[in-house]
This record gives sequence, structure tokens and C-alpha cells, in this order.
Amino acid sequence: MQERVNLLGLSGPQLREFLVGIGAQAYRADQLLKWIHHEGMTSFDDMHNLSKIFRQQLAEHAVIEPPVIHETHKSKDGTRKWLFKVAGGSLIEAVYIPEPTRATLCISSQAGCSLNCTFCHTGKQGFHRDLTSHEIIGQVWTVYHQLKAEKVFLPGATRVISNVVMMGMGEPLMNTDNVFSALHIMIDDLGYGLSKKRVTVSTSGVVPNIDKLSDALDVSLAISLHAPTDELRNILVPINKKYPIKMLIEACQRYVAKQKNRVITIEYVMLKNINDTPLHAKQLAKVLGNLASKINLIPFNPFKGSEYERSTDEAIMLFQTILMKAGYITTIRKTRGDEIAAACGQLAGQIKDRTSRQARFLAKIPVSEIASSRDLS
Ligand code: SAH
Ligand code: SF4
Repeated sequence: MQERVNLLGLSGPQLREFLVGIGAQAYRADQLLKWIHHEGMTSFDDMHNLSKIFRQQLAEHAVIEPPVIHETHKSKDGTRKWLFKVAGGSLIEAVYIPEPTRATLCISSQAGCSLNCTFCHTGKQGFHRDLTSHEIIGQVWTVYHQLKAEKVFLPGATRVISNVVMMGMGEPLMNTDNVFSALHIMIDDLGYGLSKKRVTVSTSGVVPNIDKLSDALDVSLAISLHAPTDELRNILVPINKKYPIKMLIEACQRYVAKQKNRVITIEYVMLKNINDTPLHAKQLAKVLGNLASKINLIPFNPFKGSEYERSTDEAIMLFQTILMKAGYITTIRKTRGDEIAAACGQLAGQIKDRTSRQARFLAKIPVSEIASSRDLS
């Protein structure tokens, strides 16, 4: 028997195509999307406005299967983390960060990452595999429906999540097809109805796929720049050797030009005595030139075995002042969440869930840092 399709990962057009393929009516896709994403339904039998014959047809060809929750953690300040165990045994994560006026969900796009940035824990673990579109949107589905069931809404609203950032594990622009399907569902009113401005793709600079993103979707873009010169960036973000800073900034200019009022977020991790001097700040302002951008300084989250240290508060503040004087809106990412585990994308040694001892260890990692400004709007 042919493998059944997991409908969770299909965007509107993909679902319509699937329905036509099984001999059903394409317009039914709208009802299905609502059942799956608005209502959180996983059983076709419960979809009472669909005919029995159609439900049977669906059950024959399709499933609705969210990713398996491995563990969840909650910190005192409301920050919550979901660890999912995906096919093949990898653990991936999603982090929910509530704030007074918004609630951001940080999700993963790959198990591990192949790009090997030297300051990133995910990068240090190597690459396991791309997540499927149902595993990507499945993180949103799970968190959304769990919080909805708990009646955890934004103040004065019925919304559960206002922002999604692709800043968990992996490089979203190395897994474009699956990421794009998931993004479509996030911004579709029949899916999660998120504002395009409040859905952010963060990339270390896969230049051709920045253009691909711009052709496919109109979401916000964040660039993990982290260094103002190629010499330094080649070390911190090795993909820079393939797509150097000038090419990257040009791609950003094209991205900005495509939509009115677009502003790109420049992420810059603050590494003590590596990229955090006043000279680096001046070089950064120069490199950005007239790019419509705002800068987010990220205090480095150290991890065991990492060769870097976090910049001092003074160095970060001076860096910010120089950039502000040069005319760039520059924020410093606050750290929050404490006793639950790990900042987005920086969990240790869990690509393969090798032992239960390791899983217990993961649950206990003291995490002092979960970034609150992962919402970038
Ligand atoms: N691969 C994508 C998205 C995931 S990483 C990217 O690189 O943009 C999300 C953000 O966390 C990136 O800006 C990344 O550079 C940053 N990051 C990774 N490791 C970090 C660490 N140890 N401390 C602080 N920020 C880190
Ligand atoms: Fe991959 Fe992003 Fe980590 Fe670099 S910073 S290794 S691109 S997840």
C-alpha cells in the first residue's frame, strides 16, 4: 500500500493538488485546513461537515500526525520549551516566549545544521537531516493547541501566538521547500493567520535562497551577520567563504527592494575580544551602508567546550552607542527564562537520542538564556 500523506504539512495549494489526485473536490481543502489548524483535529471521523465517503477516502490516503512530544519544560517567567522526537531519533526543539503584548514561538527547521558556525552549539553537533514540512508546522500546531486548551492567550485577545521566528535548530534556507510550505500555512488565514511581518526567517546567508524566499513569500528576514569583515566572518560563519559579505548585503538590498517598508534585522552575536570592539562597530555601520536595517546585538550564550566568551556589558553598550550614533536602531537581546533548558538552537548533544541518561541530562541543563527578542517585529 502506498504510504499515506501527512496532511499537517500541506499548504492550501498543495492540499488542493492532493485532493484532486485522490479524486476528491479541491474546494474541500479549505474545510480540511480549518479542521487541522484551527481546531487541532487529527481524526477524519470527527470532521462532521465532511461526508462519510469523503472521510473514508481521506483515511485511506492520508493521516494527520503531529510530531511526538519527548519532554516539555516551563520556566517561572512563562517561557516554555517543547522537545520533540522526530523519525530517526533526533530531538528538536521549539521555545515559546510570552511577553506583555506578544508571544513568540521559536521553531526548528533541521535536526542539527551543516553550516558549522563556530559559536553555535547546533552547528557543533553536525547535521542529521532536514525536517519535513509537517515536522516544522507540527511544532506550531502542537504549541498552539496545547496553549489554547490551557487558555493561555495574549492579553485581551484570543490569539495564542503572535510571532514565529525560525531561529531554533538548523538553517531554514538550506531546507527551503519544506520551510516554505510551513511558512505558507503560518500566514494563511485558514492556517494560523499570522501577519507576514511577524513571521521571521533567520539565515546565516544562503544568498541564492534569499532570492528564492523573496520570490515565494513576503515574510520578515533576519541575517546572522556577526562580523563586519570577510576575514573574521569566514571563521565565525564559514558559509561566508561561499557567499561573502558584499554578496550577502546585495541580496539583502534586493530583498528590501521587493516590498515597500521592508527592514532587515541584522543579528550580531557579541563575542568577547573577537568581534566586539569599537572598531568592529564602526566597520559594521560602514558595511551596512544604506541598507534598511535594524541591528540586534545578542550576548553570546556560552556552552560547554565553546572557545568563546560573552562580551562584557560595557562592551555591548559601547557597541550599541556607536551604531546608534551612526543612525542604526540597535537593540540588545535580553536574556530570560532560567531554570528550564537552553536557548534556541543551542542544545547539546541531542541530535541522536542515544541514551535515556542523555535525555535526563538534557532536562536538567540549567538554562540561563532564552532570548526574549526572538520576535523581531
Ligand atoms: N541558522 C539560522 C537560524 C538558527 S540560529 C541562523 O544562523 O540565522 C538563530 C540565531 O541564534 C542566529 O542568529 C545564530 O547566530 C544565533 N546563535 C547561535 N548560537 C549562538 C550562541 N551560542 N549564542 C548566541 N546566539 C547564538
Ligand atoms: Fe547553523 Fe545557524 Fe548555528 Fe550557523 S548559527 S551553525 S547556520 S544553526
